[in-house]
Amino acid sequence: MDTQRNHGASLAGETVSLPGKMQEMKKQGFLTERDAAVYMDFMRSHSCYDAIPTSCKLVIFDTKLPVKKAFLALVANGLRAAPLWDSKLQRFVGMLTITDFINILHYYYRSPMVQMYELESHKIETWRDVYLQSSNRILISISPEASLFDAVYSLLKYKIHRLPVIDPESGNVLHILTHKRILKFLHIFWRKIPKPAFMRRQIQELGIGTFKNIATVQQTATLYDALAIFVERRVSALPVVDEQGKVVSLYSRFDVINLAAQKSYNNLDVPMRDAVHGRSCFVEGVIKCYPYETLETIVDRIVHAEVHRLVLVDRANVVKGIVSLSDLLQGMVLTPAGVDALLS
Ligand code: ADP
Ligand code: ADP
Ligand code: AMP
Repeated sequence: MDTQRNHGASLAGETVSLPGKMQEMKKQGFLTERDAAVYMDFMRSHSCYDAIPTSCKLVIFDTKLPVKKAFLALVANGLRAAPLWDSKLQRFVGMLTITDFINILHYYYRSPMVQMYELESHKIETWRDVYLQSSNRILISISPEASLFDAVYSLLKYKIHRLPVIDPESGNVLHILTHKRILKFLHIFWRKIPKPAFMRRQIQELGIGTFKNIATVQQTATLYDALAIFVERRVSALPVVDEQGKVVSLYSRFDVINLAAQKSYNNLDVPMRDAVHGRSCFVEGVIKCYPYETLETIVDRIVHAEVHRLVLVDRANVVKGIVSLSDLLQGMVLTPAGVDALLS
């Protein structure tokens, strides 16, 4: 199989300058050389293969499949993404994720009275022809022998949430790695590796997360407004807030797949309050954190809750930030190595 691949971005041999945050951490005494190396070394000494579960479900879509069928198949299989196979080129050419469903809805939706014929009739390849004119993406993948450090770097640098692991010999996709899987893998070894002192520091001191210009959505806004924010800001989730900016719930890109499951995508004029309650399966309440909590507490909470981010709030429950798995992996693995993939 002639599979054209971009096996992520390897940092081997690359010279990197220390980002400001790391210099600052060193100056303030949060980071010793020994502490800095702990998670970086762990990620460098384990391969992607190590983090792959012994069995998992994987669905592959031919690019000739109609988009609507593809999203229904994701729902039916309880999956979030699938690699795309181009039978003419005989290689994997991309991924289909819930973000693509959001982009399609946002692109073609007019009103509840107008049916989206494109969603009914487009094949995946037709949609890609329309969409890829503006963003010329190639498949980002990684080899099973590559280190988890390189996998983290690729996920963050390319701002993607799904990294297919492709066997260079057979060209087969073995697994789709995510931030969640990688942090969980590290967490399994939590007690066996020394705990760096910075894990006991408060998240606000460490500056791990986003603390300004947080994208939120009012509970009175429409679902279409939320999709527009996803498209414009490219964020993975929106805290749903009241008039005072207090968080009342969370709506993530993942929740949009419910529209396919419930076939309710023809009306995106519904208020967020109803959209949030209409979800068939969601996490109870909002999983939050506070600026004074330690990095260790936050990692434990996010791993146990199995969510992609925590909403950082003040004592009055007003949204002040987002601490996502990307921020944690950047702060714990890449920053100590002197690499800032989130900024680049
Ligand atoms: P989601 O958060 O919905 O799972 P992603 O953030 O991974 O989605 O995807 C964002 C966009 O990047 C989508 O258009 C998706 O098709 C594309 N994409 C995702 N993963 C890859 C990849 N490994 N290679 C190329 N494109 C990808
Ligand atoms: P993914 O596994 O695709 O990264 P997410 O973690 O974004 O998905 O979302 C999975 C489910 O968890 C969604 O229903 C979402 O609303 C919910 N969820 C995610 N983060 C939080 C949070 N901080 N608080 C409450 N629910 C959340
Ligand atoms: P993610 O896509 O969640 O992995 O996060 C990528 C970056 O976007 C991280 O630095 C997050 O803190 C940031 N981020 C995620 N959600 C939001 C949001 N709603 N508003 C602002 N930044 C966000």
